[in-house]
Amino acid sequence: MFEKLKEKLGLSKKDETPTVTRDDGGIADSIGTSSKDLNEIAANLKISLIEADVALPVADRISNILLKKLDDKSVRLKGDRNAVFKEAVRTTLKEIAAVTPIDLVEMASKKSPFVVMFVGMNGTGKTTSIAKIAENFKEKGYYVVIAASDTFRAGAIEQIALHGEKIGVKVIKHQAGGDPAAVSFDAVKHASKIEKSVVLIDTAGRMQNNKNLLEEMKKIKRISSPDLILLTLDALSGTDVLTQAKLFDEAVGINGYIVTKIDADAKGGCVISLLSETKKPILYIGTGQTYSDLVQFSLDWYLNRLLN
Ligand code: GDP
Repeated sequence: MFEKLKEKLGLSKKDETPTVTRDDGGIADSIGTSSKDLNEIAANLKISLIEADVALPVADRISNILLKKLDDKSVRLKGDRNAVFKEAVRTTLKEIAAVTPIDLVEMASKKSPFVVMFVGMNGTGKTTSIAKIAENFKEKGYYVVIAASDTFRAGAIEQIALHGEKIGVKVIKHQAGGDPAAVSFDAVKHASKIEKSVVLIDTAGRMQNNKNLLEEMKKIKRISSPDLILLTLDALSGTDVLTQAKLFDEAVGINGYIVTKIDADAKGGCVISLLSETKKPILYIGTGQTYSDLVQFSLDWYLNRLLN
């Protein structure tokens, strides 16, 4: 996880007393040379960040803040350069990626039925994430209803119904090609008769340029009045996650994200780009294909993996 970003920043080394060489790839190792080299370090750092999927404006911001911190500090001592650098990276990333978090389970405890609509491009892991969240709510004693509102893609209803069966939660479904908003309406109606219930609405994984599907998504929102709309994003899409976030936000308004396939993401920069550029929270991250591979996101979780 995040090997590339770690390597680019020179954080993957265990050795706390790095040698001062300029071409071994680690920015941390470059600290300790004369302060006029800081500009060069900033330029190298920016390139490293971009190569690790950090979007250009975010890479700019990070390198500026970080270099200012390092310039202010006396980091000439051989022994603690790496530690000082790590600390500077930590505080810099905390600064630029600070976003007010959303606790899904806590929110759900305050309203019933609690309705969450899931949107996202095909293949990003939306269906799998819904199943993971459904199981999580079920374990916490909630009555979970999944609305099979992806009536568009062949096999989508069967896919979500199978998940429902495995987890043991109710799936409300109509026939393929039916009105997805009507499915979401029925699911909310069903759940409203039951205390401590949660409705999770699956929607068609659309391409951004399909106008009908965008209109359909708006209709589901209008009919089901979700408490939250979450966008699933595949970490492997790199900085394209920013384009997707913008498009879906413009179409229906997004409250937060689930970033999937983090387990396969060697780069690690997209999380930082997303938080820094959109200022919306990541609620969960997908760390694998089984139901339990879901982690509640926190910036500390991310930084600990990056820096330790
Ligand atoms: P959807 O089209 O957005 O509903 O995507 P699916 O839920 O069908 O997932 C697409 C593929 O990604 C499936 O093979 C999933 O098992 C896989 N997948 C989903 N989430 C994760 C994750 O967090 N890690 C990994 N490694 N694979 C995932």
